[in-house]
Amino acid sequence: MTSPELSGYAPLDNLALARGTVDRVTRRRMDKDWIDAAWKDPRTRVLVVHEGHALVRDDGLVFASPEQAPTGTRFLLGEDTGGVVYFGVSGPLDDPGAGVRVASLREVGALLPDRDAGLLTHAVALANWHDTHVRCPLDGTPTVPDAAGHSAVCPMDGSEHFPRTDPAVIMLVTDPEDRCLLARNAAWPGRRVSILAGFVEPGESAEQAVIREVAEETGITVTNVRYMGSQPWPMPRSLMLGFRANAPAGQAITVDHDELAEARWWSRADLLAALQARELALPPSVSIARHIIEAWYGGPLPSAWTPTR
Ligand SMILES: [Zn+2]
Repeated sequence: MTSPELSGYAPLDNLALARGTVDRVTRRRMDKDWIDAAWKDPRTRVLVVHEGHALVRDDGLVFASPEQAPTGTRFLLGEDTGGVVYFGVSGPLDDPGAGVRVASLREVGALLPDRDAGLLTHAVALANWHDTHVRCPLDGTPTVPDAAGHSAVCPMDGSEHFPRTDPAVIMLVTDPEDRCLLARNAAWPGRRVSILAGFVEPGESAEQAVIREVAEETGITVTNVRYMGSQPWPMPRSLMLGFRANAPAGQAITVDHDELAEARWWSRADLLAALQARELALPPSVSIARHIIEAWYGGPLPSAWTPTR
């Protein structure tokens, strides 16, 4: 039996949005002949995304053929082991037919099979960037997609621009009794709680961000900051870096009420009882937060957090 102080420290695996199986074929992105041939290949599958949503059915994503795909910014997602090439297009979705629905990554990210979870995460991330970064930041000229949609070039000054990913830290803090610090964000309705999180600032390491964010939000000084794993969270453009950290004894929680409504320590037994009584709800399975909490707890916890956009 592991010591409680060491439980839940194994690297996180099977994170919902870190399951992609399709080769991104980065070497093909500047190969115009290969890309043109792939677009003409009837086996090629196109994933249309619109404002973070795509068409899904119960067994996975609904793809279009290149002929059926709407006009819109196109990007190469990759090629599977069977030689099937996948593109994404940011454009309007078809009306969903029978058995098909419009769903967001947040809603279906944990339900999709591995291949489709990876494709939708990749496509939503690129589409979000293209949709919001349409001009050169130096002179305002509309940019032109390049590298099969993985960069954009300014036709005026030739500057090249790449998709943005904003690193954010998310951390489960435990006290000397191995109780877990859970907080309720002031913006969240009901009794939803989670672990603390925040963006990494310019010129700051991820570990420094963990220490700073915990101190800012709860007044707790943490030590022993340890990396657990990561997953993309393109809503709109984050990379979530998961950590554990320890809070040495003798510290009182001082909640920053600009960000948090409340924060307190939870033992495993108290947390389970509160969830079973529906007095609390945890983040959904698609989130890294849920994985880190369940890794600390030692197994699945009963909680449903209704997905919202
Ligand atoms: Zn420019």
